[in-house]
Amino acid sequence: MRSIAIVGASLAGTRAAETLRRDGFDGAITIIGDEPHQPYDRPPLSKQVLAGEWQPDRILLSDGAALGDLDVGWRLGHRAVGLDVATRTVTLDSGSPVTADGILIATGARCRELPTGGLDGIHTLRGLDDCLAIRAELEATPRRVVVVGAGFIGAEVAATARGRGLEVTVVEALPVPLGRVLGPEIGTVCAEVHRDHGVDLRLGVGVDGFEGHGRVERVNLGDGTSVDADVVVVGIGVIPNTGWLEGSGLELNDGVVCDETCLAAPGIAAAGDVARWPNRLFGETMRVEHWDNAIEQGQQAVRRLLTADGKAQPYAPVPWFWSDQYDRKIQLAGRVRPDDEVRIVTGSTTERRFAALYGRAGRLVGVLGFNRPRHVMKYRQLVARGAGFEEALAVAAREG
Ligand code: FAD
Ligand code: NAP
Repeated sequence: MRSIAIVGASLAGTRAAETLRRDGFDGAITIIGDEPHQPYDRPPLSKQVLAGEWQPDRILLSDGAALGDLDVGWRLGHRAVGLDVATRTVTLDSGSPVTADGILIATGARCRELPTGGLDGIHTLRGLDDCLAIRAELEATPRRVVVVGAGFIGAEVAATARGRGLEVTVVEALPVPLGRVLGPEIGTVCAEVHRDHGVDLRLGVGVDGFEGHGRVERVNLGDGTSVDADVVVVGIGVIPNTGWLEGSGLELNDGVVCDETCLAAPGIAAAGDVARWPNRLFGETMRVEHWDNAIEQGQQAVRRLLTADGKAQPYAPVPWFWSDQYDRKIQLAGRVRPDDEVRIVTGSTTERRFAALYGRAGRLVGVLGFNRPRHVMKYRQLVARGAGFEEALAVAAREG
């Protein structure tokens, strides 16, 4: 293989290009990205950059010199609009084609939206431009921030806005924040953490609509109440960016469907938020929307393009993420469901510093830490080797 085109100037795409060069690949690499910016890191967009503590130049994935060393043909500010699978040709919005021996799809995801009625002051947060627009509004004498959705974006934006001294209301349709990810027991702790920090949490209620004159002034809720708002941030999940692949013949099903090795078709692989693949460690087909997976899968998927079919290894990681909320670092390793059995094995929920193990069908499937990074890393190893739940609880009883 003499040339590889990476679609998405993303975390997965950039780390994949670096991997290629580190591994000694000396063919042509092209990276196509629809944003005008050099590749950057997204986690600080809801944290340090939104808080005004960091400027955008601090979140670039590589500095100029390192990017130059990569010897990549950059096609930034260009959207891919089509893919010919047989010839491995990507068509750009300008109409020009990019043909390569191998293609890595790393186009990530975009925010789900609510109808805004054309009102200003209602935002979603995915990219740097979104973050700077929200930041400018938080700095322009607003008082009341309403966050719709208490998932990751909602929780982190609420924490950052409270850190700026603003009034924050969070509206979430589910009974607890992050309930679908962490389960009801830990979701309840998350709710308490928000309340500890003065957030007005409206749980179990959806948003009916927004009101205002040109600019949002009020958010109407499904229970007939309303909340005054100067700025609204909507964080209600994402949709994988696969529109440009419609009609290509690739299988699309809430993401690009890949095999166990991240291959979507001969010479075409996918990685990061956009990729869905069967993870044999959990016996489950999954799509993971977190930072660590974008890096690891980007590396695995691009190496897959250079590996003979019979020699390719399955991609079977223990997914892992962190979320910074107020002074808590929440980390989860594994694949958990709301109805898993949860046991607190160290610390306590009242002190908001603890580790919890998740078990399902006799197996340890996840570990969660609130300010307990060493525990998360320790039990992650047990999840990786398929340890039993009782075995993990015995380790916890012995070692904490
Ligand atoms: P993305 O980062 O989504 O990049 C995809 C790129 O492809 C984008 O630039 C997009 O514009 C471009 N693109 C899309 N379609 C096309 C097209 N047709 N043609 C050309 N280019 C295209 N994860 C954690 O684990 N911990 C955190 O604390 C954390 N914080 C986060 C905070 C925020 C605000 C956000 C938004 C995400 C956060 N994440 C966090 C998630 C993590 O950042 C993502 O999982 C990761 O960025 C996914 O990387 P990716 O490479 O798959 O794609
Ligand atoms: P998310 O974590 O999927 O959470 C979305 C939340 O909004 C869910 O609780 C969802 O409930 C709720 N919701 C959906 N529709 C709603 C509606 N109409 N009204 C009110 N609430 C609604 O997504 P996100 O917080 O928007 O984050 C976007 C992406 O960024 C995700 O990929 C996330 O992983 C990533 N991110 C990650 C981190 C991190 O890992 N620390 C931080 C920030 C962002 P249902 O479950 O019922 O749909």
